[in-house]
Amino acid sequence: MAETIFSKIIRKEIPAKIAFENEHVLAFHDINPQAPVHVLIIPKIVIPTVSELSGKEHAALLGEMIDAANTIAKEQGIDEKGFRLVMNCKADGGQDVYHLHMHLLGGRKMTWPPG
Ligand code: AMP
Repeated sequence: MAETIFSKIIRKEIPAKIAFENEHVLAFHDINPQAPVHVLIIPKIVIPTVSELSGKEHAALLGEMIDAANTIAKEQGIDEKGFRLVMNCKADGGQDVYHLHMHLLGGRKMTWPPG
């Protein structure tokens, strides 16, 4: 599968401000933050988009990503007021980097509908 810049971040070949890491999941601050807290939570294995996810095969991995989001939200002090988790999928979803990632956004009131 084609690599993206996120593979280089996983291998620590390019710098990132790491917010969380375990065996399967890495989280780092977005380089172009859209909110006071904007962290990307990614699996260490390459899964390009949500379309390649299967509930049966990836349930544990998705659970770890949610656990990471909750841990980071607490650390960043946004767990009580709330936050938004976003996974953009392909062109119409606004996905630019084809390595699965969950945006954790918080620290301000989010609007709806999204752009
Ligand atoms: P998406 O548009 O959902 O694919 O989101 C990709 C995100 O990756 C964007 O919010 C970018 O700002 C972010 N991004 C791209 N390159 C880097 C990088 N080197 N370090 C941190 N965030 C990045």
